[in-house]
Amino acid sequence: MSSIFTKILNKEIPSEIVYEDEEIFVIKDINPKAKIHLLIIPKKEIPTINDLQKEDKELLANMFFVAKKLAKDLNVEEWYQLHFNVWAKWWQEVMHIHLHFTSDL
Ligand code: AMP
Repeated sequence: MSSIFTKILNKEIPSEIVYEDEEIFVIKDINPKAKIHLLIIPKKEIPTINDLQKEDKELLANMFFVAKKLAKDLNVEEWYQLHFNVWAKWWQEVMHIHLHFTSDL
C-alpha cells in the first residue's frame, strides 16, 4: 500500500507541493511545529533511515541540497533546522522517510 506521502504525490490526497524534481518533492507539514515547517520527501518510498541502501546515497545528498535551496529561497539561511525521526516502532508517523525543515525566522 502506498504511503500517505505517495498518495499526496499522486494527487489522491490534497496538499500543497511547494517544490518538485525528478526524485524529490516538498510539502507543507499539515501540523506545523514552527513558522515554516516543510517536509522534503524522496519519491522513492524508503520506510526509515535504517532501510537506506548504498544506492540511495546520492538521493539523500540531493535532499540536503533541496534544503539548502529552500533556505535561500525562503530567506532563512541564517537559522533553520533539519531532522529525520527514526522512531520506527512507536512514534514515526509516516513510514516513508522525510526530512523535516523548520525555521522560526
Ligand atoms: P514523523 O513521521 O514523526 O517524522 O512526522 C510525520 C509528519 O508528517 C508530521 O509532522 C505530520 O504533521 C506530517 N503529516 C502527516 N500527514 C500529513 C499530510 N497529509 N500532509 C502534510 N503533512 C502531514
